[in-house]
Amino acid sequence: MPLIFDIKRFSIHDGPGIRTTVFLKGCPLVCMWCHNPESQSSALELIFRPDRCIGCGACVEVCPGEAITMEEWRSITNWERCTHCGDCVDVCYTGARELAGREMTVGEVLEIVERDRPFYEESGGGVTFSGGEPLSQPDFLEEALEACQKVGLHTALDTSGHALWEVVDRICPYVDLFLYDVKFIDDALHKKCTGVSNELLLDNLRRLAELGHSIVVRVPIIPGVNDAPADVQALGRYVTNLPGVTRIDVLPYHEIATEKYRRLGREYALQNQLTPSDNVMQNIACMLREFGLEVRVGG
Ligand code: SF4
Ligand code: SF4
Repeated sequence: MPLIFDIKRFSIHDGPGIRTTVFLKGCPLVCMWCHNPESQSSALELIFRPDRCIGCGACVEVCPGEAITMEEWRSITNWERCTHCGDCVDVCYTGARELAGREMTVGEVLEIVERDRPFYEESGGGVTFSGGEPLSQPDFLEEALEACQKVGLHTALDTSGHALWEVVDRICPYVDLFLYDVKFIDDALHKKCTGVSNELLLDNLRRLAELGHSIVVRVPIIPGVNDAPADVQALGRYVTNLPGVTRIDVLPYHEIATEKYRRLGREYALQNQLTPSDNVMQNIACMLREFGLEVRVGG
């Protein structure tokens, strides 16, 4: 059964119009700046919010791995011992402990997506599948996209494209718009910052473009990581040579993830990283426009 970690209604940054975005769990990339760390693993994960803990001690009693101890008035989790079994979640009534990820059927997802149909129709919106990397759950994704298209919903796929072409090819017929994330053209930098080569994802992007699919390239801008003029120009050159791809959205990095990493018992690699200023974003947009591309800041 596929794992969904969030469904966001009334989203306005994940494709045209008002949309519902369905976030699938699991991603083959580990981007240094990932602001959804709970999306990376394809398994259920414990999230612990110390500020909600009232120190009742119920979780200590049920933890099979003895991963929880009490310190003063609240519980402490030993993340090395935690197996993410979820037993503590069942007894924690304050919501201090919860599991990231929920098994859902296509029917259950569609029922939620359908709730906002009038807004999609009014605004030209629809449904977007995101993640994590949605292509890492291809069976569910294909079935869900097909089901959405069958009932007349506009479908978008927010993807890094890091999957075998056979997988991309399978879901293509059910995607109205690809929101295709590209971080770097330089492969060494891509490997260093995401853990994987960009060869596969750039190859898939080119093949999709050659087949005439609707694609918006999306680039997160992280100061000091991929905002150097040489990186931006390499990107502009690459995209302008893709047949039919005319638009790039540049998305400013936002420092919103530190607390999320803490709740998962992990370190955030980009602590103290600053958000790019409006000026920086506008300069990057100008550089890309020189390649004849339509550029939107923020998507
Ligand atoms: S069960 Fe919840 S509220 Fe009670 S000690 Fe554990 S985390 Fe805190
Ligand atoms: S999820 Fe982790 S902390 Fe909670 S009961 Fe299971 S092993 Fe213990």
